Parts: sequence; structure tokens; C-alpha cells
Amino acid sequence: MMGRLRDWLMAQTLRVQLTGCMQQPFDDSSQPAAQIGRQAGPQPPLATPVQFVRGVGPKRAELLERLGIRTVEDLLFYLPRDLLDLSQVTPVDRLKDGELQTVCGRVVDIDGRELAGGKSLSAVLLDCDGRYLRGVWFNQTWVQQKFQPRARVLFSGKPKRQSGRWEISHPRVQWIDETDESTATGGLLPRYGLTDGLKMDDLRRLMKTVVEQYADFVPDVLPAAFREQAGLVHIAAAFRALHTPTTADQFAAGRHRLIFQDLLEFQLGIALRRRVWRQSRGAPRFPATPKIDARIRRLFPFELTAGQNQAIREICADLESGWAMHRLLQADVGAGKTVVAIYAMLIAVAAGYQAVCMAPTELLASQHWHTIDRMLAHSRVNRLALTGRLTAAERRDALARIASGEVQLIIGTQAVIQQDVRFARLGLVVIDEQHKFGVMQRARFGGNATPPHTLVMTATPIPRSLCLTQFGDLDLSIVRDLPPGRQRVITSRVAGSNDQARVWEFIRQKLRSGRQAYVVCPRIAPTAAGDGGDDGLSAEQVYRRLADQELRDFRVSLVHGQLDSDLQAAAMAAFRAGHTQVLVSTTVVEVGVDVANATLMVIRRAESFGLSQLHQLRGRVSRGSFQGYCFLFAETELAESNARLEALANHASGFDVAEVDFQMRGPGDILGTRQHGDLPLKVADLVRDGDALAAARQTAFDLVASGAFDGPEFAPLKNQVLDRFGRLFDLAGSG
Ligand code: ADP
Ligand code: MG
Repeated sequence: MMGRLRDWLMAQTLRVQLTGCMQQPFDDSSQPAAQIGRQAGPQPPLATPVQFVRGVGPKRAELLERLGIRTVEDLLFYLPRDLLDLSQVTPVDRLKDGELQTVCGRVVDIDGRELAGGKSLSAVLLDCDGRYLRGVWFNQTWVQQKFQPRARVLFSGKPKRQSGRWEISHPRVQWIDETDESTATGGLLPRYGLTDGLKMDDLRRLMKTVVEQYADFVPDVLPAAFREQAGLVHIAAAFRALHTPTTADQFAAGRHRLIFQDLLEFQLGIALRRRVWRQSRGAPRFPATPKIDARIRRLFPFELTAGQNQAIREICADLESGWAMHRLLQADVGAGKTVVAIYAMLIAVAAGYQAVCMAPTELLASQHWHTIDRMLAHSRVNRLALTGRLTAAERRDALARIASGEVQLIIGTQAVIQQDVRFARLGLVVIDEQHKFGVMQRARFGGNATPPHTLVMTATPIPRSLCLTQFGDLDLSIVRDLPPGRQRVITSRVAGSNDQARVWEFIRQKLRSGRQAYVVCPRIAPTAAGDGGDDGLSAEQVYRRLADQELRDFRVSLVHGQLDSDLQAAAMAAFRAGHTQVLVSTTVVEVGVDVANATLMVIRRAESFGLSQLHQLRGRVSRGSFQGYCFLFAETELAESNARLEALANHASGFDVAEVDFQMRGPGDILGTRQHGDLPLKVADLVRDGDALAAARQTAFDLVASGAFDGPEFAPLKNQVLDRFGRLFDLAGSG
């Protein structure tokens, strides 16, 4: 399908070039007066407030308002969460081995047991009109909590005969509630999110009315020919199929249509943003001649990996192109992003420009400074560290040297650099270890300065769907390999005090043989409510306890973000030099701290961290040639938390961990806060709709690159994109 679409786009490009802006009767002949979201024409029916719809009074209108539904259009876009398909239920005595089927039954037994090798089996037994079927799950004890005895459910999957009884392994489960039962006439039931006082049945009836009266008024902003090539149904058909489904396939096609359009518009916004950058922002060219290349590589104490070299080639192509680079460098923890960044900075410096690297913490900034300062020990590159630790006088002097252009290479924290620093000839900005600036945040501070080349590096790989949205405006370089000799960190979840005691014994042994250890805690100080005992949460308490008890024979120190930055740096220096053997800390060691001899890590209350964050943390102990160990102390009974920690223990690659984390917790948690995960999407869901997202992106970028999107038949779609994202993405002038 994508191939055909591409062919068609090519044809469109030609057509646009040939006919210029000639108006073509390309869309449906019946172009309706109103566009979605716009108030064109007298009394656009879609903007009708819901309380004027038959069957809705002021009271129900109030309930709908709670769901964010005010108008008829809002109602139409209030999509069902799912479809209950009671038409395809197979009676147990007619099941066929190994084929995808659905059964319906009542939960009569819920059971779990341990298997050999730390594995577990959970089983739910269904009574399906007097015949029985079992659903089974491996290593997912949390499913047991999801079932209530006597609940009615559908299991879908491929049944197998197991010792005389039907069994489905890892079935898809749908719960049937009372209202579904009452309406169930063996048909298809859309199911909506509800609010107190609003009944499923009432909403279904209301949707039926609205679809009958209004669906045909919704204009389709997608040109008919485009729709056909992309395999999308008309928008009116989509609403009908979703709210009054007749087959599961049509329901799916209707949903796909709306989700695809939602994602397409977002990606078109991003594609336009990139085009605006291209057209308006020329940038200096930095050539990477073989001579310069050789001079830079001589500074590195190791050969670069294939992945690092590939990333460098991509970056150099950008730096030479004459257009401002906007690139995201993704790599697993410890893959060696820093040298790639240093290479890029030295290319800029060689061309006579200034380069700056911003790190998220003082600690990391000072570590980068160490690395770079050491590498450049015998070079004449003028460099300085711009951190919060400078005195006022030093800072004034530093700013003057940056403004005069004398200093070529600057390492600092973001806060410092964003304020009052003036650069003489800023050519490249590297933003290190940065998850938290999604596309919307960057759009906001992108507007002001003249653009230098920009390289963004994330702390851990981010899931593909987030990459295509939050970072979708950036070009992507991925380093997949690790430096040679790197071993995977042995990771285990440790519950119960006996096992924890054994871990401390193991750690004492390793410390005696010369290794060093991190102990990471979620908080700095105990909460007011805490009683001062060690609950594993606060670094201060854990430090006191370890220094008194488990690790009293060793040199233990404490570091966290509220310590004075000199003290932080001193504590880190002592640890790096091996003067202290154990570092108790908060997540200040999360980002990039690099001590090759530290091979042990204990993470207290591991359940309170995100998976990507834990992966980033354990990356601290895979830096040298010794085997690294990470112990996840879990103080929770919550099966779902434990399942996440198990997943981390089982997956070594950060790329895999990112996907698992994303599937389990959604986008918000990965980017740090809910807010940053929230994208202005209407109906699409990044976790669920990853495939549609990839297709929508390809289509959007093809449409914009080919010029087809500038053709008259796409004007309604373009208007809608500009309405939704013009301000957000700073798209002035791309109409
Ligand atoms: P990250 O990508 O997590 O920021 P770093 O840049 O801090 O990783 O690199 C991790 C460690 O690997 C550093 O100690 C660095 O010196 C080392 N390193 C990086 N590249 C190579 C390489 N090609 N060969 C050997 N060691 C390397
Ligand atoms: Mg790093």
C-alpha cells in the first residue's frame, strides 16, 4: 500500500508542477460548507450544542460536558474505547485447535503457582455454558488480581487441548458488564468511557441518533484520490462504522481512518516545521577534511566503534550542508556518545566557530569537563567550564572571553547557558542527556536566537513512537553497538531481608577485592512523617545505617543534589580516586557519571523508579572491564511493579527496555512528567497506534517533500494542520 501511495505522490508532484495552481475537481464534488473545527457558513450543524440533540436535555448535557463533549462534533469524535464482538463467540464444543477464536464464559476459579526456575503460572478457569476452558499466563502473576469470581469475560486466542481440557495461553481478555448483557443480541457493541450517571446504553443510543443526523455533514479534508490510495474510508463512513458498527472489520477501518488522520496532521505539522527551518535558516559550513579528521582522532585514547563512526559521518554531512543541523543522537547507556559530541565540537572549532555542550547537572558538566580537558591537554583549543561554581568575578571574566570569541569550547549546565551568555561566533550546541525537551518545549525556545547547529543526545534510548513525535522534528542517528569488551550488567530483583543480607555480604567481598559500589535511593531526606528509621527511601538514612552496620568496615560517603556543589564535586572526586569505596546517593549519579572501577550498584526502593531510569542507573556499573552487578531492592508486593523489575532483569538492551517501559507505563512517565508526554492528539494513542504512526509519518513527509501537499486539493487539510499546530510549531508563513 505504501508503495502505491508513493507512486501516486510522485504523479501528484508532476501534476502540481504541470498545472501550477489550477483548481482541479479533485475532491468529492460535494464539498460541504463547514470544516471541522471552523465556524464557516450560517449555523454549522456540527457546532450544534449537544443539548439540542434529540434525547439530550440540560441534565445529560451536563454529564457529557464532564467528558469534554459540548458540541455534536465533540460527540462524533468521542470514539469507543473498544468493540465488544458477541457475534463471533464460538461454543467450547465447537472450538478448533490452534485457530484464533473467542469464547464467552463466567470466571469460576483463579489460581497461581510457582514453577521451577523462579517462573510462575497463573490460570483462570471459565465456565462456558457448562463446559470449561482455562486461560493461562506465564510470569504474569498480576493478571490474577484483575479477575473477579463470577465475572463474565471473553477470551480470544488460539486454544489447545491440554490433558483433556481446552486452554488458551495469554488470551486477549474483554470484560462484559451488565449493560452489555442487556443489549447483547449477539451483535457488536461499541464501548465508551463513561462518567457517573451516564449509562452505556444511553450513550450508544445518543451516538446512533447523532450519526444518523450529522455524520454526512462532516466534510472530508482528505482528498478522495489520496484516501483511496492510502486505503482510508470517508470520514462519514468512519463515524458510522465506529458508533453503529456492523462488522468488526469496518469498525477497525473506521477507527484507523480517524487515528491515521490525527497522526497525519501532527506529522504534517512536524514536516512543515522542518521545511520552515530549511528554508529560513542557513548555517555556516564546517568542512571535515581528512587532516582535521586525523587531528581529532589522535586525541581519542581508543578506536571508535562502527556505530560511532556512522553517527559522525551523519553529523559531518549536516555540518557541511549549509543548513542548520537538528539531530538526535540515540545510543544505549555507555555506548560512547561523549566522544561523538567532542568530535562534532572540534569540527566547529576547527572552522573557527565556538561550540558549547550543555549538561543537565553540575556533576555531569564537571565530568565532561574532565574528559575533554584531559583529551585536549596538548592542544591549543581555548576552553572553559561555565558552571554555577564560578565566583561572580570569574563568571564575569568567563563571559567576557566568550563574548570576545577568545574561548572556543564551552562546557556548562543548561541553566547557566540559557541566561546572559553572549557568543561571538556560536556554531554548535550539544544538549547532552536530555529527555525532557520534547518537540513542544524546543519549539518554544527555538524561535529567538539565530540558529547554530544543534545536536541533542538522550540519556537512554527512547521508544520509537516517542522518537517519531516528541523528537520527530529531528534527524536521527543511532549507535547500536557498544565499545568492545563491555559486559552486560547482571541484574536481579531482591526482595526479603535474607536475600538482601546475602547481597550485602557479596558486596563486602567485592569491596575487599578492590571494587567500588553505588547505593542509590529515591529521596534525599526522610519525609516529615517518617520515624527516622531506614525505610530505604532517603539517602541520608540509608547512608547512616550502612556506615553504622552493613558497611561499617568500609569508607562510605554521601552525595545528593542539595549538597553544596563544591561538596558534591569533592565527594565525586574522592570516589573517582578510590578514596571512598561506597557512594550513597540520589539519582545524581543517574546521568553519565563514569567511574570504571565501580562495578556494584544497589538501588533501594527500585519500584519507585521508571525502567529507563533504572537502566540508565545500572549503566554506571558497566564502564570498565570488570563484571557489573545491579541489585534492585524491591519493597513492594505490587505484582505489576515486580513484573517491571523482572523485565529489566531480563532485558540487557536499552532499546528493548525502552519499548517495554513504554508499553507498560505510557509516554508520560518516560519523558519525566505526564505533561511532557501529552501530545496534542485527538484520538490516537502512541502506545496502541505505533504502526499507524510510522505510516502516517512516512506519508506526511512524502506529501511535503514531493510538493503534493502544496496542491490546491490539499488546502483544506493544510488549513486544518495550521489551525491545530501553526502556533505550537511556529509555522508562520508556511501556508
Ligand atoms: P554515554 O553514551 O552513556 O554518554 P560515554 O560517552 O560516557 O557513554 O562513554 C562511556 C565510556 O566508554 C567512557 O568511559 C568512554 O571513554 C568509553 N568509550 C567510548 N567510546 C569508546 C570506544 N570506541 N572504545 C572504548 N571505549 C570507549
Ligand atoms: Mg553521556
